[in-house]
Amino acid sequence: ATPTAIMVGTGRGADLGILIKSVEVLEQTRRITTVVLDKTGTLTTGRMAVQEVVATSGEEEAVLGVAAAVEASSEHPIGAAISDAAQSRGVATAAVRDFDARAGYGVTARLDGRIAGGPAEGTQVWVGRRKLMAEAGLGVDEPLEEAMDRLEATGQTAVLVGWDGEARGVIGVADTLKDGAAEAIRALRELDLDVVMITGDQSRTAEAVAGQVGIDRVLAEVLPQDKVAEIASLQGAGERVAMVGDGVNDAPALVQADLGIAIGTGTDVAIESGDLTLLRGDLAGVPAAIRLSRRTYRTIA
Ligand code: ADP
Ligand code: MG
Repeated sequence: ATPTAIMVGTGRGADLGILIKSVEVLEQTRRITTVVLDKTGTLTTGRMAVQEVVATSGEEEAVLGVAAAVEASSEHPIGAAISDAAQSRGVATAAVRDFDARAGYGVTARLDGRIAGGPAEGTQVWVGRRKLMAEAGLGVDEPLEEAMDRLEATGQTAVLVGWDGEARGVIGVADTLKDGAAEAIRALRELDLDVVMITGDQSRTAEAVAGQVGIDRVLAEVLPQDKVAEIASLQGAGERVAMVGDGVNDAPALVQADLGIAIGTGTDVAIESGDLTLLRGDLAGVPAAIRLSRRTYRTIA
C-alpha cells in the first residue's frame, strides 16, 4: 500500500472509533484467521446485576447479606452486583476481616459481626464458584446443584455462598449482551473468520451466552493466568489470532495474540497492551478494522 493509502486507512479507522497504534498493526490486521473474544465486559456490558437468590434454609436475606459483607472488599463486577443488591433490598451486612480474593475463583473473609440467619461472629465464609467450595471443603447439596443448573442454563453466573462446612445458597448474577454483539459476530463470519469465546465462567453459563450471540466455539473455565496459553495453543495450531478484551486479566493474552484489540471502556492495562483500541467499546469496530486493513492493503502502489 502507498503511504497515502495507509494514512487514509488510519484516518478512516479514527472515524470508525478505532485507534490504531502503528502502521505495522494495520498491515497485520488483514492476516488474522481467528478472533477470540472475552465474555464479561467485551461481549457483555460488564454491568452485572443479581437476578435471584436461593437459600437452602429459605433465608435468602442472610445469604445475600453474608455475600455482600465479603464482596464489599472485592473489585470484581460480581462483587459490585452483590453489594448493590444487598443495598437496594435493605439487607443487613457486616464488617469483615482477613479478606482474600482468589482470582478466577471468588472471595473469602471472616465476619466481624452477626447477620440474622447467618453464621456466628468470626466464622470464615466463602463466596464463589464450585471449585472454591470444593477447596474449602464445603459440600453442595442436590437442591442447590439443581438451582445452579437452572441459573446457568439461562446464562447466569451461579455464585455459591457457604460457611461451616456447607454451601448455604446460590446467587444468580447476570450481565447483558452489548447492543450489536450478535451483529458483529455475524460480520466476522462473513469475513471468513473463526470466532471463539474465552471466559473464566462455567461452561454452561458460557455456552448459553455464546448461543445468544451466535458463537459455537467456547473456551470456558479458563483461569486468568491461562488465557495466554490458550491463545498460544491456537497459534501453535497455525491460526493467526486477534484477541479482544477489556480486563486486567486479558492484558497478557492481548500481548500474546497476533493482534490485541482492547475495549476503550475497559481497564488502562488492557488498553496499553492492545495494538488497536475500540474507542467506544463498540464491537462493530472488530470487523470494521479487518475490512479496513484488507481494503488498505489491496491498494497496491
Ligand atoms: P471472567 O473471565 O468471566 O471475567 P473471572 O476469571 O474473573 O471471569 O472469574 C471466573 C469465575 O470465578 C466467575 O465466573 C465467578 O464464578 C468466580 N468469581 C471470580 N471473582 C468472584 C467474586 N468476587 N465473587 C464471586 N465469584 C467470583
Ligand atoms: Mg472481561
